[in-house]
Amino acid sequence: MASFNLTVLPGDGIGPEVTNEGIKVLKAVGEKFGHNFNLKYDLIGGIAIDETGEALTKDCLKLCKKSDAVLLGAVGGPKWDDPQASVRPEDGLLALRKGMGLFANLRPVKVFPMLVDSTNLKPDVIMGVDLIFVRELTGGLYFGRPKKRWRTSRGRRAVDSMVYSEQEIERIVRVGFELARTRRKHLISVDKANVLESSRLWRQVAIEVSEDYPDVELEHMLVDACSMRLIQNPTYLDVLVTENTFGDILTDEASMLAGSMGMLPSASLAGVPQDGVKIPGMYEPIHGSAPRRAGLDMANPCALILSAAMMLRYSLGLPEEAKSIEQAVDRVLEEGYRTYDIVAEGQKKVGTRQMGDLIAARV
Ligand code: NAD
Repeated sequence: MASFNLTVLPGDGIGPEVTNEGIKVLKAVGEKFGHNFNLKYDLIGGIAIDETGEALTKDCLKLCKKSDAVLLGAVGGPKWDDPQASVRPEDGLLALRKGMGLFANLRPVKVFPMLVDSTNLKPDVIMGVDLIFVRELTGGLYFGRPKKRWRTSRGRRAVDSMVYSEQEIERIVRVGFELARTRRKHLISVDKANVLESSRLWRQVAIEVSEDYPDVELEHMLVDACSMRLIQNPTYLDVLVTENTFGDILTDEASMLAGSMGMLPSASLAGVPQDGVKIPGMYEPIHGSAPRRAGLDMANPCALILSAAMMLRYSLGLPEEAKSIEQAVDRVLEEGYRTYDIVAEGQKKVGTRQMGDLIAARV
């Protein structure tokens, strides 16, 4: 019987509700496959600010670093939105990513055939979409220096810096190539090399790394063209690798292909995923804390449950167990159960807890 230590950070808004359902499903996996998940709960985001004054305490970060993986709900809400506030819920997320060295954010976007009518896009455009974004997570504009605001005689000014080293680019591009190897062997590197110097370095490093992957076709795509291609012909795309800010924007756009944020998981890894290698990681849905839905038993827990599946695959080395969760989600959707965000006429509308129960029962 294998035993794993997990840190659980439910966070704010709907975070705790969807996290509960993820834990329910993990317990079902533990029972079926004979694993023991030791759970330690801690605070992140707004609730951590309220209780400790910090969005992520040093002790919490220590706990996360010691565990096999971290499962996170969501952070934020109007209560902590004051632009003048010295600490914000998102600071906790950034500190966790930086502190754990989580440089690779994996965001799969899969259109479930039974949800093809829940999106705003034409079914024939999105049918069959199954792509994965690899977003650089600890560099670029969000962290680069200088980063400041100041006053001049001609008014206020501000600067953010898009800075990348070749080492940062190389390791994230390698994640893209490794994933591409396990899929259609086609990697798209997204940049803005016609304008940005950091993108020109990015492209050059991608070409150099590609020599180690002769079996994978490398294609370069400008970020503006990529945003268009996502809507125009998304089935063309398979694995895409890009820097932090481009990835942030493109992945929200891509999430709309799947109909709801409530369906999309993510993994943030501190290493390159390879067969048989367990990588420290943090797993969370791509959605936020949806404050208006909090406490109403409405939120779709699938994104968090599918994030737990990614955790089993990448950090715990349990691919069969991961598949059992993914198949359970498929079955529940095939049987017509839907939370409010993906429901259509003639289907069975269920709440957060019932959705979790149904998935856990089918693991
Ligand atoms: P959001 O993702 O919380 O919500 C966007 C829309 O999607 C809303 O209509 C919401 O009701 C819906 N939605 C989101 N998750 C859902 C789910 N599981 N089931 C059903 N519907 C769902 O984004 P927002 O409204 O822009 O932000 C709300 C708060 O979350 C803000 O404070 C923001 O800063 C924070 N946020 C946190 C994260 C994170 O924790 N990683 C990410 C994005 C936003």
